[in-house]
Amino acid sequence: MGLGEFNLIERYFEHQAVRRDDVATPIGDDAAVVSVADGCELVVSVDTLIEGVHFPPQTSPQAIGHKALAVNLSDLAAMGAKPAWATLALTLPHSDEAWLEAFCRGFFQLADQYQVQLIGGDTCRGPLSLSVQIMGQVASGEALTRCGAAAGDLIYVSGQIGDAGLGLRLVQRQLQGVRDEDYFIQRLNCPAPRIEAGLALRGVASAAIDISDGLVADLGHILKKSAVGAVLDVEALPVAEQVKSLAGEPWWQWPLSAGDDYELCFTVPSARQPQAEALMAQVGCEISCIGVVEPLRGLRLRLADGQLIEATRQGYRHFV
Ligand code: ADP
Ligand code: MG
Repeated sequence: MGLGEFNLIERYFEHQAVRRDDVATPIGDDAAVVSVADGCELVVSVDTLIEGVHFPPQTSPQAIGHKALAVNLSDLAAMGAKPAWATLALTLPHSDEAWLEAFCRGFFQLADQYQVQLIGGDTCRGPLSLSVQIMGQVASGEALTRCGAAAGDLIYVSGQIGDAGLGLRLVQRQLQGVRDEDYFIQRLNCPAPRIEAGLALRGVASAAIDISDGLVADLGHILKKSAVGAVLDVEALPVAEQVKSLAGEPWWQWPLSAGDDYELCFTVPSARQPQAEALMAQVGCEISCIGVVEPLRGLRLRLADGQLIEATRQGYRHFV
């Protein structure tokens, strides 16, 4: 490595804008020490990004820095937790300072936005991959989980689905000349975690998940954990016109199985529907009501002509 491991850590990771009061021992010791607020529980998640698997090799280091943290923040959003601390295990082919600078710009811009302090990590040499562990807090017993959906609950999704899937085809040059190309590539590279929405949904949503592997797959996890089924109305899916026109027939199959959107999918008891919609408007999160939870297991799609079919596309799965 050009720059030694310790100088690298000191130069790029030790000095940060965010310095939280609840961090007793930051980067620079054998482990970090933090204090969890009274009456709160610790919420922890980790996600790994490997070059060529989770992002194409030509992805900019700034986007990689942003995305590594964003996908983790998205998990906290789905739990209704407030982000606080992160660790970073970074494996680099060589200590390329231009790469590190751009990576840190992406990472710390998002960390600053949510007052997340990087409190530790590990740095190794090898094929490019990174694991970010995120830690947050939620008032005891208030975390949103995948387990609480009940028959009759309404199913919502935030934002639009399928945008990142189109972005991926654009960067892979499978498609060209698409209107608003930059928007879709941005949606792939720089997802905006729905933290504010997740926090607002505590005590309101009965279950929640973030969409990393595609709506059918991820909603499927809620249904399985909650031991229920659902019907989705395909006409209600929030899908960009460009995605609809490029997806082929039937148009909904692609946005239903495309991953990487990092939107929230959540269920709301019908009595709390007005409250949920008002809260989402307050935090500026667009949502669409796309279906309803049913006692009958499985996921069915209601097509434009009223026909019901089983949803089969399972989204992106490793080892299949
Ligand atoms: P140790 O040998 O005790 O594991 P390291 O040399 O790996 O210590 O790390 C020294 C300090 O730098 C530790 O506080 C560690 O958490 C931190 N650190 C190492 N790599 C990173 C990184 N990529 N991001 C943030 N902190 C890091
Ligand atoms: Mg170490």
